[in-house]
Amino acid sequence: MISIKSDREISFLKEAGNIVYQTHCYLKPYIKAGVRTKELDKLASDFILSKNASPSFKGYEGFPASICTSINQEVVHGIPSNRRLKNGDIISIDIGACYKGYHGDSAWTYAVGKISDEKLYLLEHTKKSLFVGLEQIKPGNHVGDIGYAIETYAKEHNLGVIKELVGHGVGTNIHEEPDVPNYGSKGSGPVLKKGMVIAVEPMLTLGSPEICILDDDWTIETADYSEAAHYEHTVVVTDNGFEILTGGKNGQE
Ligand code: MG
Ligand code: MG
Repeated sequence: MISIKSDREISFLKEAGNIVYQTHCYLKPYIKAGVRTKELDKLASDFILSKNASPSFKGYEGFPASICTSINQEVVHGIPSNRRLKNGDIISIDIGACYKGYHGDSAWTYAVGKISDEKLYLLEHTKKSLFVGLEQIKPGNHVGDIGYAIETYAKEHNLGVIKELVGHGVGTNIHEEPDVPNYGSKGSGPVLKKGMVIAVEPMLTLGSPEICILDDDWTIETADYSEAAHYEHTVVVTDNGFEILTGGKNGQE
């Protein structure tokens, strides 16, 4: 069942989303060559706890860390470790925070130092695809309209769309109904209604969209080792559109 959130619930979801946004902003200056992903995890965890919230991913289905750090060809669910970032890497950081029982969820891909033109292209257009998808959100439109817009944009820019991983509803659970795929056809899937809260999260690749899971049972990477990017915002459906809960005032970082 897809839940419609009350104004009171939306106020908690806004606070959770804002904590996630602030955590991204707080981490950003630390994302540079030489830092260990484990250090980013600790910084994020301490920051979230300081806001009277808790990291949503810690212990979720057994996930061993507070945030996900996925480097280069890794797509999602990378586990923070002693690995140090290198100049020219890209890193997708996925952050969830739970405030008074309500979650926020947002991922962003960052450049470490100077990156190649190819990687810049991937980041620019994966980020753009998120906003192209979000523009479809208003009462009466369908979940499939979001995926159709993202997939069409990705194809126009020769980027691979990962289909096995999808966006989702957000509420008292970090993952709720409905699934929000990054592909689809216009007018398909559930109808969007005011008060629904969903996370939209395109994951695009420079090569094949095929993925595989590593031996740690968490990290997902592209089968052809091509780089992947991941941008995600949690949003609420409003009277005539949507409001981003995880992106500050203008929905960007
Ligand atoms: Mg996420
Ligand atoms: Mg998500």
